[in-house]
Amino acid sequence: MKVTVDQDKCVASGQCVVAAGEVFDQRDEDGIVVLLNENPSADLIADVQHAASVCPALAITVDE
Ligand code: SF4
Repeated sequence: MKVTVDQDKCVASGQCVVAAGEVFDQRDEDGIVVLLNENPSADLIADVQHAASVCPALAITVDE
């Protein structure tokens, strides 16, 4: 699984961190998404796909 984020699209809503905190974090200064792990293990697929589906900015892309 390959995960990418578009920080230019991100609106700092934080849903991705709630859905998959092992993979996503937010910058302290402005809340913009930070990708912690671009190749998460298979057991995190469901959480990462959920994060992508709830992101209001469609800023998360998952390639399997
Ligand atoms: S859910 Fe989307 S908009 Fe919200 S912090 Fe994560 S990447 Fe940014």
